[in-house]
Amino acid sequence: MSTVDEENAFEAIVIGGGLAGLSAAYRLAQAGRSVLVVERGSSCGAKTFTGGRLYTYSLRELLGEAWRDAPLQREIDREVITMVTGSEAMNVDTTFADPGGRSFSVLSTPLVEWLAARCEEAGAEIIPGATVTGLVIRDGVVCGVRLGDEELTSALVIDAEGINPLVFERAGLVRRLAREDVAVGVKYLFRLSEQEIDRRFNTSDRRGTAMLGMGAVTKGLFGGLFLYTNIDTISLGLVLDSDSWREHGHSIVETAEDLRQHPAIGRYVEGAELIEYGAHLVYEGSVDTVPQLFGDGWLIAGDAAGFCINRGFTIRGMDYAIASGIAAGETAAAALAAGDVSATRLSGYRTRLESGVLADMAKVRGAHHWMSHTPDLFTTYPALAVGLMRDMFTVDGGPLVPVRTTLGAAGKQVPKKLSTVLNLMKGVRSL
Ligand SMILES: Cc1cc2nc3c(=O)[nH]c(=O)nc-3n(C[C@H](O)[C@H](O)[C@H](O)COP(=O)(O)OP(=O)(O)OC[C@H]3O[C@@H](n4cnc5c(N)ncnc54)[C@H](O)[C@@H]3O)c2cc1C
Repeated sequence: MSTVDEENAFEAIVIGGGLAGLSAAYRLAQAGRSVLVVERGSSCGAKTFTGGRLYTYSLRELLGEAWRDAPLQREIDREVITMVTGSEAMNVDTTFADPGGRSFSVLSTPLVEWLAARCEEAGAEIIPGATVTGLVIRDGVVCGVRLGDEELTSALVIDAEGINPLVFERAGLVRRLAREDVAVGVKYLFRLSEQEIDRRFNTSDRRGTAMLGMGAVTKGLFGGLFLYTNIDTISLGLVLDSDSWREHGHSIVETAEDLRQHPAIGRYVEGAELIEYGAHLVYEGSVDTVPQLFGDGWLIAGDAAGFCINRGFTIRGMDYAIASGIAAGETAAAALAAGDVSATRLSGYRTRLESGVLADMAKVRGAHHWMSHTPDLFTTYPALAVGLMRDMFTVDGGPLVPVRTTLGAAGKQVPKKLSTVLNLMKGVRSL
């Protein structure tokens, strides 16, 4: 049994002050445990990167009614799925009457900064601008971290390093990130007045739009675009599967630039001031690549544990980062109270996640494989959808074309009909 050493300066140390690490620290501090968050950025939030749309259920669970004070942007009430060719687009555009506060667009830096302040109020300590370089491991039990030559000991360590958990990888606790487990995300942030965003997206009262799409913007490769309206900015970006991107050798910068210039997408940000851009990895693994989640004296949460699901029409990582942070923080607090941080005691963490993120990931286990092996999704189908709409809506004085004829002509363009239908059914099952 790994017992708790009274000599430690902190009972728990959290590596990484993103949403996962801060959620864990918040729960530990609330439970009266002494906890330190070590963050390599100059402040929490300085190095975080997201799309960003947050599904709020886990933030509510973390903060109770105080979630309403979080610096969220617009409440999403309009969902757009877009399929684009080189110059055109076909949209499925849905506006919900009562979005129920379920999701908001967010900018990750102010959100994470705000959560860090709540952690400090609750009693957690945060050291920004410090990078954890290794772990202190004694008799197989993780009992602290190294910051260069310095050692900080604790009864327990929570890893929330984000998508590339190098500290845990170097210690042999997680495997090296594989290329097939990640996609590359690029994002631009454009400034535009609140009124102009309302006008372009035909909305008011800080209601927001989430647009996800696929097609020619990824040059036919597995991936997609996202656009979220914030209060007075617009987040626009792309996620590209790193395997197909590498195989085809397209420049990711050029692909992102082409997205900005796309006639059907670029119009939303036309004339807006580009104020930020960046690139980051996005987790695309499956439940089968989730690492060991706990051990003697340690737990792992958020992206570091691979908790992200991209289904094409939703990307979820932030809500799982918060939910797994809560579960890690609560499991750790109970273990500390019991004076036992052994793997057996900490295994309750995985059990909790089995009815949450792990169950979700298991349900869509085949989705990534299906999407990456169905290139027609990113080429043929968007072109067909746009072509069908063009034919239906074109009135040019020629003879009227019945819808059945238009549909029949579109159907003729579908290659290998039976295998296409079977493959689409497989896709529906995997999503
Ligand atoms: C392009 C893109 C679009 C996305 N869109 C969405 C979206 O719309 N909705 C959604 O829910 N999710 C989205 N995601 C996923 C989401 O952003 C992540 O799942 C989420 O931010 C993970 O949070 P985290 O706290 O686990 O990790 P992070 O936010 O990466 O935080 C990790 C922290 O650890 C720190 N750190 C790392 N190593 C060390 C070290 N050695 N010492 C000290 N500190 C360290 C880092 O500086 C960082 O602050 C997107 C991701 C990308 C890249």
